[in-house]
Amino acid sequence: MEYEAVIGLEVHVQLNTRTKMFCGCKNEYGGAQNTHLCPVCLGLPGALPVPNQTAIEKTILTGLMLGCHIAPRCKFDRKNYFYADMPKNYQISQYDQPLCLGGEVKLHTLAFPKDVQKEPQALAGKSIRLTRIHLEEDVAKSSHYETQSGIDFNRAGTPLMEIVSEADISTPEEAFAYLSALKQILIYGGVSDADMEKGQMRCDVNVSVRPVGQKEFGTKVEVKNVNSISAVRRALRYEIDRQIENAKGNVPQKQETRRWDDPKGQTTPMRSKEQAHDYRYFPDPDILPLRTDIGSPSLLETAKAALPELPEAKKARLTATYGLSDYHSSVLAAEVGLSLYYEKAAAGAKNKAVVANYLINEYLAVASAEDEVPVPPEYFAELANLFDEGKINNRQAKEVLGFMLAEKKAPGVLVKEKGMEQVSDTGALEKICDEAIAANPRGVADYKAGKTAAVNAIKGFVMKATKGQANPKVIDEILVRKLAAL
Ligand SMILES: [Zn+2]
Repeated sequence: MEYEAVIGLEVHVQLNTRTKMFCGCKNEYGGAQNTHLCPVCLGLPGALPVPNQTAIEKTILTGLMLGCHIAPRCKFDRKNYFYADMPKNYQISQYDQPLCLGGEVKLHTLAFPKDVQKEPQALAGKSIRLTRIHLEEDVAKSSHYETQSGIDFNRAGTPLMEIVSEADISTPEEAFAYLSALKQILIYGGVSDADMEKGQMRCDVNVSVRPVGQKEFGTKVEVKNVNSISAVRRALRYEIDRQIENAKGNVPQKQETRRWDDPKGQTTPMRSKEQAHDYRYFPDPDILPLRTDIGSPSLLETAKAALPELPEAKKARLTATYGLSDYHSSVLAAEVGLSLYYEKAAAGAKNKAVVANYLINEYLAVASAEDEVPVPPEYFAELANLFDEGKINNRQAKEVLGFMLAEKKAPGVLVKEKGMEQVSDTGALEKICDEAIAANPRGVADYKAGKTAAVNAIKGFVMKATKGQANPKVIDEILVRKLAAL
């Protein structure tokens, strides 16, 4: 029997607001432990929470970017449970009236892992539906040591979005693409840096398997503690195999929560979920319900005004404005920082496609698109112009690029320093071309007889004489001119 996986993801995203969700304490990663605290986020008796308007606007903005319906009215609820990392013994969240409903994440090819980008599933353009996005507060961060545990309350009360997907994901690669595409949008909107290693984006994975053709879902397992996008892929691969193996051996699947152990490459049981928790949700009596549709401007209008150009629109604009290939536009649009960098570089370059070529085909071959490019964009413009004007050839341009990244010097300076300048000196080339014509009477005769390809033999002589340093375009021009004059 063939089996298929059914996957849904719950993603928690920390919003990059200046202050926490319900108080004025700093929302900052990596501050000295237990220093960003006040009676509100410590849950002291009598303290009153006040919702953070920016956090609400950023959540609405996220919803708009993902095509969600924005609720005109919503409220905050208390989710009651007892745990050491939660000082109030309840978490302020949204239960039955979330800010955003529906929406989708489109899985574009470049969001898939590199090794499967050419496979049909990466080219199909599938969309994953969203159930909802709600806003809540984060809990404190606990660290467990050998015999004791420590709790840092700096994180308690910081704004946290929960983005819940429908169980539309079918493979570990689609889960990878979903998270990559989602992260890209969050960064585009400037709502979060979404760095999984810093815990700014955290993912709980729900996965079950069922025989192909069966409509009912299998028993769901939740996998926690997965802290990178590629680890989600690895965890799912392991978990799906494990569940299929169990199903084939008629081992009943328990509904449980498992932990992903990345170094060991396996999931291990954490706790079983015999029944759903009773969180005794009720509306938080300290916080008024929200209207997103009234006021001038309303919360919705403010969020709409902050809508950025999204990846798809950017891709289309880059292609139209700069005459780039579909692939180059996609690569640039995939990283908002890289596309900004490109546009600055292109502004100073005569041939915009040449800049994209050196930035994507050469620079990105040795660097990651997420990292900051180590030289100013003007350098890429200068490099492209040197090539475009025939002062250096393609091979030299690649060399200059290498030096430029290593030495952080402008391409013009490097061309002089490395003695590449003379090769574009047409005077010197004219002389070598004369020699080449004199040394190739046969080639000249063929050329004159109409065999234009014969020019290549003469060109080869020039390239040899200049040890490949001459610009082929310039040689072509000189030779054609000289041969015509013979
Ligand atoms: Zn506080």
